Amino acid sequence: MPISGLSDKRIIDATKALRLGLDGEVIVDRPKPGDPDFYLSHTQLNMMLRCPKQYQFRYVDGRRVPPSGALVFGKAFDVTTSVDYEVRREAGEGLPQEAVLDLFSDSFDRGAGEEDIRWGDEDPGAMKDEGVVLVGNYTSEVSPTVQPKLVQHEGKFRLGAVEMKVVIDLVDQQNTVIDIKTAGRKWSDAAARIQHIPYLWYLSRLTKGARPWEMQFLYHVNVRSAARQRLAGRGHAEMVQILPAVLSKAGFGLYYEQLFTVAKQIKAGLFPPRTAASGNYLCSEKFCGYWSLCAGRGQKVIGR
Ligand code: SF4
Repeated sequence: MPISGLSDKRIIDATKALRLGLDGEVIVDRPKPGDPDFYLSHTQLNMMLRCPKQYQFRYVDGRRVPPSGALVFGKAFDVTTSVDYEVRREAGEGLPQEAVLDLFSDSFDRGAGEEDIRWGDEDPGAMKDEGVVLVGNYTSEVSPTVQPKLVQHEGKFRLGAVEMKVVIDLVDQQNTVIDIKTAGRKWSDAAARIQHIPYLWYLSRLTKGARPWEMQFLYHVNVRSAARQRLAGRGHAEMVQILPAVLSKAGFGLYYEQLFTVAKQIKAGLFPPRTAASGNYLCSEKFCGYWSLCAGRGQKVIGR
């Protein structure tokens, strides 16, 4: 289903360049483990680390579950900022605010209307209003300070027998790598420390002979609770946090080991459930779309 607001040629060109599929282009499903063109993405890796059983449901059995409201929100935000940055990269300036807000609204409506979304406690209308405030703030306050060199840039490398792929939101003219996030609340320092994507990106650059430790990696975190406060006329909490990635050589070594183990595990077809009893706080009806299918659901520590 094409986006109704796709009438601006700059937006059409950018969505094609970024292969966003908003104009009706069919995006085919990813290859499965064992297929010759199989690759392991950052999202897949995160799912394997969170719960291998969940990975099996999604990527081996090919079962899709309705996305959460947060995912619909994040995708609409991602599409809008990527298109705006791509237009900025091509033309030197971004889209007018009106076009940005229309693009976000259309993208959000498209995502919200497509499937039986797991909204949970979220009100879709309120969520969309927050998104309009956030994306308007981001594209008027932050985007004009960035000179984009690469948008939605893909890095690939091989690890053992497995092809790895990482897509990065943005690289600027000074080679700063930027990952654009949306979050319910402000990130703590710990949140910036536990992200994997910079390590994966650095690995992909290492294999190209780059010197990753000399690169700068930033997160632009767009905070929904701050937008909510703004809408309610309360306070002036900052809506965007700009945080550097917190990396260490020890963390890099640990991540590399995790990657290697996960790649071997997928190849061997080993997908044990990681239940709440084994410390997975995301093993719950709210956070796992496979809850009703999985024998691991509700496995709690006795006495807790
Ligand atoms: S219900 Fe728990 S164990 Fe089962 S797939 Fe979901 S997270 Fe994993």
